[in-house]
Amino acid sequence: MNRREFIEIFAAAAILPALSPQESPREWGSPVFDVHFHLRPQASANITHLDGAGVTKANLLTRGRALDQVKALHTLAPHRFTWFNSADVTRPDAELALTEAVKSGAQGFGEMKFHVAADGPELRRMYALAADLNVPILVHFQEADHFANEGTWSTGYAKTFESILKAYPRTTFIGHADAFWANVSADYRNDVPYPAGRIARGGVTDKWLGDYANLFGDMSAVSGNNAMARDSDFTTDFLKRHQDKLLFGSDCSCGDGHGAGYNNPAAPKMAGKCVARETLTVLKRSASPAIFQKIVWGNAQRLLRIPAS
Ligand SMILES: [Zn+2]
Ligand SMILES: [Zn+2]
Repeated sequence: MNRREFIEIFAAAAILPALSPQESPREWGSPVFDVHFHLRPQASANITHLDGAGVTKANLLTRGRALDQVKALHTLAPHRFTWFNSADVTRPDAELALTEAVKSGAQGFGEMKFHVAADGPELRRMYALAADLNVPILVHFQEADHFANEGTWSTGYAKTFESILKAYPRTTFIGHADAFWANVSADYRNDVPYPAGRIARGGVTDKWLGDYANLFGDMSAVSGNNAMARDSDFTTDFLKRHQDKLLFGSDCSCGDGHGAGYNNPAAPKMAGKCVARETLTVLKRSASPAIFQKIVWGNAQRLLRIPAS
């Protein structure tokens, strides 16, 4: 989107609709929107995670043909889900598949997680299409393996992505995953998934969130949690600086919204925990109630233009 459209969307949303009873603040003191929730095959398992973690609504991420499952879930739980779809960007029919998904109700592309370069031709055509269809695109950036021979995803983020932000000003990008979040620190060397210790100020992600109106941050997964949990002095200021650009998400695979069965081989300290709960806890203790409410609810409502239910 261009700057004028961006301002119009945010100005229109300045008057927030009244919350329905379902959206009334509960456990977290604010309704919560999870921008990064992978569709689970069994419909009821989706609801179980939302209810268990105290999440009001979630954005379903699917790949390929998923319309029937998405519709079934809408029937089971009206108004609790929005939908992003993804398609194999290395295939020539990816644009057609994503255009059809948007016509069927998908509100964005994602997550885009493929073994291609962040500035390569496969993703470039998706960036352009997202602008044409006026939907955001959520991209997974990762440069270090979680397990042997995993391979990298949307590579070259720190070196090349600023040129993409400049080249596609009408595209709304939502950044996610290891390289996006490790690069809040200026000293990241693409060596480990989840760097520890104090953050060196001036990382490119921090800078670009400030400099580019078309970049947003998806705080999901261990990567988002780790970036916010490693240096509390940094976190409070970061959340304040980018309070209109950050979106809470979980990317959690636990069974019950309380951590059952969660296991990420690259993050043993998160075993048995619910990523949604862990990150909501960090955000709640690091932000004022007003900023917390924007990050876990308001920003997503505006960005995805979700009507009040
Ligand atoms: Zn991801
Ligand atoms: Zn969970």
